[in-house]
Amino acid sequence: MNDPVWDYVIVGGGLYGLSVAYALAQLAPGVRICLLDQFPDGHENGSSHGITRVTRTTYDSPPFVELARRAHRIDWPELERAAGEPLIVQTGGLFSGEPGGGWDDFERTMAGHPEVERLPRAELRSRFPLFRDRGESPLFDSTAGVIRARRTLDVLRLLCDRHEIDRFAPERVLSIDPGGASLRVRTERRTLVTGRIVIATGAWTTKLLPELGERLRVVRQTVLFLALEGPPGEAEVPAFPVWVHVGRDPREFFYGIGALSPDRGIKIARHDTVGEGVDPDLSDEPDPAEVEAVLDFAAAHFARPVSRIERVDRCLYTMTEDEYFLVGPHPGESRITLATGFSGHGFKFAPLIGRVAAEIAWSGETSVPEFRRHAARFLPR
Ligand SMILES: Cc1cc2nc3c(=O)[nH]c(=O)nc-3n(C[C@H](O)[C@H](O)[C@H](O)COP(=O)(O)OP(=O)(O)OC[C@H]3O[C@@H](n4cnc5c(N)ncnc54)[C@H](O)[C@@H]3O)c2cc1C
Repeated sequence: MNDPVWDYVIVGGGLYGLSVAYALAQLAPGVRICLLDQFPDGHENGSSHGITRVTRTTYDSPPFVELARRAHRIDWPELERAAGEPLIVQTGGLFSGEPGGGWDDFERTMAGHPEVERLPRAELRSRFPLFRDRGESPLFDSTAGVIRARRTLDVLRLLCDRHEIDRFAPERVLSIDPGGASLRVRTERRTLVTGRIVIATGAWTTKLLPELGERLRVVRQTVLFLALEGPPGEAEVPAFPVWVHVGRDPREFFYGIGALSPDRGIKIARHDTVGEGVDPDLSDEPDPAEVEAVLDFAAAHFARPVSRIERVDRCLYTMTEDEYFLVGPHPGESRITLATGFSGHGFKFAPLIGRVAAEIAWSGETSVPEFRRHAARFLPR
């Protein structure tokens, strides 16, 4: 069955597919947009599920500081206005690390930054008693907070439906045929004809576009939710800050978020950017050694013992070599725009990069100055 001709087919209905679709509908009212996902709404097989995510300005490279500031100042407030509710809960964030590794880049990049201050140990103890005093004076980022991640995806679906974007899920895209005046998208059910395509397929990108195989690697993450002994209030959002600790060894990068209902327990995980590549279609059990390592980290960093593991989640990072995303025209076909490779830190940029990718899909370039200044770093090659 041949479907009507679409102006845009967006492959991947996760955070980025939804963000690009919504931005496109705002940019070009009336264009025909079709959004496809292989799994039903709300699935937990990719990179965007779960209740919470961290947002922050504190980064180890200036372009991401600039983009985060822009997203906090313009793009998230715009999305919150459209949603009619807050999607970010301000908590502040604690950032610490060991000299001699990746932490040095954070210190260098954030030195003198107006929204990030060095927190004296006494203040750390009095304001955040759940954190063990390890003799450090961490950075405190007043812009950091918790993104209501699941609510953000629900809101984006609502906004896409309100803008009459045709969403089909589950429907898996099997191949893309760029030959000819129009592009053809073959799914497990039909062939769609379209003028342009946006690829927002996260961990499955190289399955659809094997030519990007060298650029992307999928790393599975293990996320723990832990109850700490004592009154739960101090470990809940907004009292509990988001936090990041960067060890000398790149594997020793951990982060966490306070409990935000319906989550039970604090969220804690290793930010594993160097792990082995996996096949996103093959699931596996959490590695007990990884669970142990996270528990050891919690014992060393929190002033209260863990009383219970509430839950263990799995999730996927789509890593690029330098952790810069792939956002721009496909190197071999400019009618295809890529929005992928978010390397485990893309959520906070979604309303901004969604807009950028939509503008590139629409006119070949973006008007967003903060992205234009660094576009070369994100260009798919
Ligand atoms: C454990 C974890 C913690 C994180 N913490 C943070 C954080 O604190 N702060 C932050 O900023 N970022 C964080 N991130 C990163 C952030 O969540 C991701 O960058 C973001 O969710 C990526 O969205 P996506 O749309 O690219 O991926 P996804 O949501 O996975 O979307 C891709 C979609 O494409 C669909 N798809 C793929 N192939 C096909 C096909 N052939 N046909 C049809 N559909 C297809 C998939 O089903 C999927 O729904 C974290 C990620 C993880 C995994």
